[in-house]
Amino acid sequence: MTIGVLALQGAFIEHERMLAQLGADSFEIRQLKDIDRHMDGLIIPGGESTVQGKLLRELGLLQPLTEQIKSGLPVFGTCAGLILLAKKIDGGEAPHIAVIDITAKRNAYGRQLGSFAANAEFKGLGVIPMTFIRAPYISETSGAEILAEVDGKAVAARQGNILVTAFHPELTSDLSVHRYFLGIAAENSSKANSAEIAV
Ligand code: GLN
Repeated sequence: MTIGVLALQGAFIEHERMLAQLGADSFEIRQLKDIDRHMDGLIIPGGESTVQGKLLRELGLLQPLTEQIKSGLPVFGTCAGLILLAKKIDGGEAPHIAVIDITAKRNAYGRQLGSFAANAEFKGLGVIPMTFIRAPYISETSGAEILAEVDGKAVAARQGNILVTAFHPELTSDLSVHRYFLGIAAENSSKANSAEIAV
């Protein structure tokens, strides 16, 4: 299992460490040629969505990655990654990759509550620790399933091959969300293999 980790800005190394602990290989995506490699899944880390969005466009990565995700590449976005994957950004800001039917509200917890930790139920995983850093929340969903809520606000969602969390599981020692994502990637690659066999 090989996961590409977008490494333009933000907390990507922490994701690589989580993947290594789960026995998955990873490589960093810094420029267009990096995505010539096969990946079973993609992680878009936290950081600053406007900076990552600008770099994705400048490096010519936005369109090919969007196409791969639309063709079924499993993707996991944390925090800024959630914002980049959302079809809508609250306040009318132009969306970026725009593949999951959610509206992301940026910096949604105000200055005082900019960063905090919580323990909350994640569907199928039980109660897990969640670290929020100037996090968004999901203010609306249409096609996506909500997987976790904190204080009545949706903070994790999935729509098919796309998983998003407003919090940073990679900044805790809990591996369960990454394990869950690797499960989505494994399901997808076994589907792809059986499609090849069927051809
Ligand atoms: N506030 C950042 C943004 O709007 C997200 C913060 C994070 O990824 N920790 O992009």
